[in-house]
Amino acid sequence: MRATNSLAEQADNVDLSIVVPCYNEEEGITELHRRVSDVCKGMNAGSYEIVLVNDGSRDRTWQFMLELQTQDSHIVAINLSRNFGHQLALTAGLQICTGRRVFVIDADLQDPPELLPAMMARMDAGIDVVYGQRIKREGESRFKKTSASAFYRLLDRLVDIDIPVDTGDFRLMSRRAVNALNAMPENHRFIRGMVSWIGLKQEAFPYERSARFAGETKYPLIKMLKFAVDAITGFSTKPLRIATYMGFFAAALSGALMLYVFVAWLLDRSVPGWSSLAIIMLTMGSCQLVVVGILGEYLGRLYIETKGRPLFVIQEIVTTRSVGARAEPAHPSH
Ligand code: UDP
Ligand code: MG
Repeated sequence: MRATNSLAEQADNVDLSIVVPCYNEEEGITELHRRVSDVCKGMNAGSYEIVLVNDGSRDRTWQFMLELQTQDSHIVAINLSRNFGHQLALTAGLQICTGRRVFVIDADLQDPPELLPAMMARMDAGIDVVYGQRIKREGESRFKKTSASAFYRLLDRLVDIDIPVDTGDFRLMSRRAVNALNAMPENHRFIRGMVSWIGLKQEAFPYERSARFAGETKYPLIKMLKFAVDAITGFSTKPLRIATYMGFFAAALSGALMLYVFVAWLLDRSVPGWSSLAIIMLTMGSCQLVVVGILGEYLGRLYIETKGRPLFVIQEIVTTRSVGARAEPAHPSH
């Protein structure tokens, strides 16, 4: 188990942590704080903390966080040293939070915090992970919806574990689930898949996803593609087998071709050479490039992981609660 877990246990634990990764969310963060606070106060959740992680925003998100922190001592404001990306910002929040239950929500209010009491009730019934499952997505482009749905179905075919479709990182997790997640050292994180990998009791919580409260999506196509490749390579080595399949296929094809050439030679018919040769060369060449590319994806990830660098760097943490225990940066123990 990693050092951070024991640190989290030493720090004065709260009953509930709400973890929110934020990147350029100045327009929405105050509203987020208001709605989350209302929910926490309204349901008698016991002690709670709101862990806001600023992921190197270029706007005034951090200033807004500091301002909110002076007004509300429940807030733990974490400033990362630069933009590390959604999954690592969330990881930072998960490693630093101390709650016995941890609620993960995006800053854009696409996922309603008002569902928390109902999710808590499921956890009271003994569930470790209550994950939101979208039954409807509003305010997102048709392209985003179809690509997301195609991606989840492809992923389902490729990976051996069961990663539920149409889920995000919106979920409520028990401390033991969060500890298990924090013990995973990998750099390329696909957190919703990693949570499925943990096992324990998990349950879907269907809900309607609304449009962003403010601002625009921080996941343009290129980031979505990168995320998809992370998800696939993180959970499956099946793409590596494509090389083997292609090899067998090419061998069968060349066997047939050789037979054809031999028969043509026996019958003394000349084989028209250039076009067939060119096609064979191009096909083989592109197959090889694809396979080398796939190998490269895995090799590159292996390389990054062997360096064992910390997943993120914290510039500062502003909180009124036990700063000392939290200030230790999380470091994978290799
Ligand atoms: N986010 C982040 N770092 C990034 C990109 C996004 O912390 O580099 C946060 C963002 O502020 C939001 C959450 O991750 O709270 C999800 O991002 P977004 O809403 O843009 O994704 P979408 O809902 O469009 O998939
Ligand atoms: Mg969003």
